Amino acid sequence: MRLVFFCFTPKDYQHCCPRSYLRNKVMSIHIIQHPKGTEPEELTAQGTDEHLSQRASIGWVEVIAGSMFSGKSEELIRRLRRAKIARLKVQVFKPEIDVRYSANHIVSHSEMRHESGAVKSARELLAEVLSATEVVGIDEAQFFDAELVEVANELARRGVRVIIAGLDQDYTGRPFEPMPQLLAIAEYITKTHAICVRCGQPANYSQRIFESEELVAVGAGNMYEARCRRCFVPHADAPTSYITEAED
Ligand code: ADP
Ligand code: ZN
Repeated sequence: MRLVFFCFTPKDYQHCCPRSYLRNKVMSIHIIQHPKGTEPEELTAQGTDEHLSQRASIGWVEVIAGSMFSGKSEELIRRLRRAKIARLKVQVFKPEIDVRYSANHIVSHSEMRHESGAVKSARELLAEVLSATEVVGIDEAQFFDAELVEVANELARRGVRVIIAGLDQDYTGRPFEPMPQLLAIAEYITKTHAICVRCGQPANYSQRIFESEELVAVGAGNMYEARCRRCFVPHADAPTSYITEAED
């Protein structure tokens, strides 16, 4: 994508001969190349006047974080689709644990989907990335092991744009590893919010509404609810052992 700004004022025009005007004014167009399918608004922190070839070889990490139903997968898919429109070579991964809706697609709650590979570990993900790949998308990052942080850094170092989506808190409201580390190393962070099903305010929490002893219980619609800070009830549905541990 390109943004083109024309430098033009009537005063400049009056005092320039047409030729120098063309050379110095009309031709002083700032063309901003947005590498790897990025949005204009996403580039504000990058500045706008770096040399194009310098830009093109630099990779980075973007993290999309929020509660369940907040639109993380939708936003990830949107960015991936735009990267593909820009004819960039894209690969997408999700953890093997999450095959709720499809084994070979990431699927949002609104039925948006994008093909993906399922991998067991961060190391396996790295091994699957082809040398020509320019953009790597990763969904449900909270289900990956801690090595995902190093893998994201390694891919960015190679020049890859890494887009990671994941739950930043578990159902008890605690930071969900390895998301805190990924947020720390990311150049760009997007926080998404759902709508609280109780009161309609922006929701930042995923309320578990079923009994389970497991910290990780992969589910959706009828197992979790989006809740705001006021409506979220920490530990209400947590296993007894967890509540005891938290109170100690
Ligand atoms: P996430 O990846 O964060 O779980 P998705 O991208 O899969 O979110 O789904 C977002 C979609 O979920 C919304 O566009 C909307 O259609 C649907 N949705 C269902 N419940 C809610 C809610 N409580 N708040 C916002 N969106 C919701
Ligand atoms: Zn609420």
